[in-house]
Amino acid sequence: LDWDSEGGWQAPRILPYGDLRISPAASSLHYGLQCYEGMKAYRDADGGVRLFRPDLNMIRLNRSMDRLCFPQVDEASMIELISKLVVEDADWIPEGDGYSLYIRPTAISTHPYLGLAAPEKVKIYVVLSPVGPYYKEGFKPVKLYADTEQRRAWPGGMGFAKAGGNYAPTVKPGLKAKKEHGCAQILWLFGEEDYVQEVSAMNIFFLIKKEDGEGVELVTPPLDAGDILEGITRRSVLELAREWRELEGGVPLEVSERPLAMGEVVKASREGRLLEVFGTGTAAVISPVEAIKYRGMEIEVPSGTSIGPLAKRFWGALTDIQYGRVEHPWSVRIA
Ligand code: PMP
Repeated sequence: LDWDSEGGWQAPRILPYGDLRISPAASSLHYGLQCYEGMKAYRDADGGVRLFRPDLNMIRLNRSMDRLCFPQVDEASMIELISKLVVEDADWIPEGDGYSLYIRPTAISTHPYLGLAAPEKVKIYVVLSPVGPYYKEGFKPVKLYADTEQRRAWPGGMGFAKAGGNYAPTVKPGLKAKKEHGCAQILWLFGEEDYVQEVSAMNIFFLIKKEDGEGVELVTPPLDAGDILEGITRRSVLELAREWRELEGGVPLEVSERPLAMGEVVKASREGRLLEVFGTGTAAVISPVEAIKYRGMEIEVPSGTSIGPLAKRFWGALTDIQYGRVEHPWSVRIA
């Protein structure tokens, strides 16, 4: 799908997978003028093909595009195009639980101009890739390294955009977290109080018993926590939790999007009130966290070595919707 400032969007084309030809001077290659989306197609028990809340991916794509001075796309037409492409390649989605087709719509500036400017030529292409089950041998909790030195995003920055430039700086701290601290992922923080933001490709949730002992609070940082990415899984978890309003045993469940300082997490953990920690994202849906390394401490999560009951309930509810085991408006059948 090509756009230029004079002719606007041209008719989309489906081409065999292969290398792209772009000018070595294209400004995506020099200034990171690139953004993308990550979504999945699922096969249901009837052989149908489904997308999960694709409208939200397209809204986020336009938000990222706008931040980079790219043109806007027509969201409904983009969903139609992606659906057509996915249906053509639906044979790639293996049958069976946990299999899916990862869909990566990507927008790049193809404008051959070495000056830093709004692009006058843009290309959107879609990469499809079959993926196997994330948890083949049961849930695998991860350890997070809460990084107090490097920043991923900050207030007024562009962390809300799904732009390649936001990910490039995370590779080096990620390697260090693995090698020196034995942690698979980084928990990004910001501000002097070490406010929690998100993980490199996931949003983060904490289930904390309230100090007065009356019920529990599910906390996730607000979107303006240093400009984090609004995950579609995050939004879905928040909406489900607000609908449920209580844990399975009837304990009242309060849902908060509010600033959460690491000090509060440490305190809750010391007082035995930290119940569950999990990440949310398209890849794993729900990713249980077993421990967080923070300023020389190791905060252990009690549900750690497996998955907490609430995290598991979200995982079950979301995968039931994604695989069409229950009918729900979030699951859009395209074939
Ligand atoms: N934060 C970041 C930085 C991400 O890259 C992702 C993955 N897209 C998420 C959060 C989770 O978003 P989603 O639930 O839409 O996959």
